[in-house]
Amino acid sequence: MSELIMVRYGEIALKGKNRHFFENVLINNMRIALKEIEAKKIYKTQGRIFVEVADKHESEKAMKLLQKVFGIVSISPVERTPLDLQRMKEKVLAYFRAFYRPGISFKIESRRANKAFPTRSPEINREVGGYILQNIADAKVDVHNPEVKINIEVREDEAYIYSAAFPGSGGLPVSVTGKAILLLSGGIDSPVAAWMGMKRGLKVEALHFYSFPFTSERAKQKVIDLCHVLKNYNHGLKLHIAPFTEIQKQIYQNCPPALGITIMRRMMFRIAQALAKKQKALCILTGESLGQVASQTLESMHVINAITNLPVIRPLVGLDKSEITAISKKIGTYEISIRPYEDCCTIFVPKHPETKPTIEQAEKAEENLDIQTLVDASISGMETLKF
Ligand code: ATP
Ligand code: MG
Repeated sequence: MSELIMVRYGEIALKGKNRHFFENVLINNMRIALKEIEAKKIYKTQGRIFVEVADKHESEKAMKLLQKVFGIVSISPVERTPLDLQRMKEKVLAYFRAFYRPGISFKIESRRANKAFPTRSPEINREVGGYILQNIADAKVDVHNPEVKINIEVREDEAYIYSAAFPGSGGLPVSVTGKAILLLSGGIDSPVAAWMGMKRGLKVEALHFYSFPFTSERAKQKVIDLCHVLKNYNHGLKLHIAPFTEIQKQIYQNCPPALGITIMRRMMFRIAQALAKKQKALCILTGESLGQVASQTLESMHVINAITNLPVIRPLVGLDKSEITAISKKIGTYEISIRPYEDCCTIFVPKHPETKPTIEQAEKAEENLDIQTLVDASISGMETLKF
């Protein structure tokens, strides 16, 4: 017998005339997330989306996948019943029997979204509850602390019966707010920043700077593995791997060591900006925080930011490291992020980095770099993978 999953979506239902657009993007994202589930149907009714799959096993698989789709508030496996009180009673009774044990307490909680249905919610509760009591002698009603709560949701064409709602990821469907270029290192922070950007509806393309042979194949593999996890939230995720060795060498040879990190990060932003233009992205997303390390002072951020007029979104500024770590564990990137590896940023780290650089200092330090040629070479040497 086919199984039905009811999907509730929150914020997007509020978006006025954009609502249909948002709903369609969500349905499309759901379809892609469920591509491995065969024989499914996805359809929309007013205020709810339904997914119909072949059997219970497929339903469990689908629920797990749907829990990662942004824009979904919660999901419930449901049973349907026609809009007829007597048939509703029978259906709920049959549904209830699966939970039965001697002396079990229950509560019926109904919601009438369809006001054309003549019976009001409190009356549905009484009628259906009464029918169960008539048919199952030792069952009892407990409205405060029931062992089983059965919900009935009366909608336009049918009513739905369920007893559990599983949380979704919330947020907005990926791609409704636009596209971002994510600076993805192999660390703990940037994958979390990616997830948070995706949660607010950004479609993310990752950009990783790779300094072979200073950083090994393992460092690259780590970023690829991170993308395998992140793609569950942003299907079709692209990863651009940009060569960065030449740039680091040039900085090392031509710039004052104290400003090395600042210049390196300005180069990263320049390449990200060029890629954003090419890929029609409108912001840069990073895992930067405030105050974590020397390069993350407000002064450095100002100097680094000065090379672009794109919005730079740093979702982690409101979080402590422990909160960031907790999210990375929850989304499944933590175990990959903590693998040891050489970071291209740490290899050329000077002994005394400037923590309060100025734009004038940075511009002066860059005088001997052929910036445009370096950016162009990195862009044209990029390798792109799709997940
Ligand atoms: P993370 O845990 O994400 O590595 P971090 O705390 O180590 O961050 P930094 O090393 O200062 O901080 O890097 C700050 C941000 O710069 C990263 O979150 C990431 O967005 C970007 N970044 C750093 N290294 C790279 C790289 N090799 N390729 C792409 N982006 C990078
Ligand atoms: Mg790092």
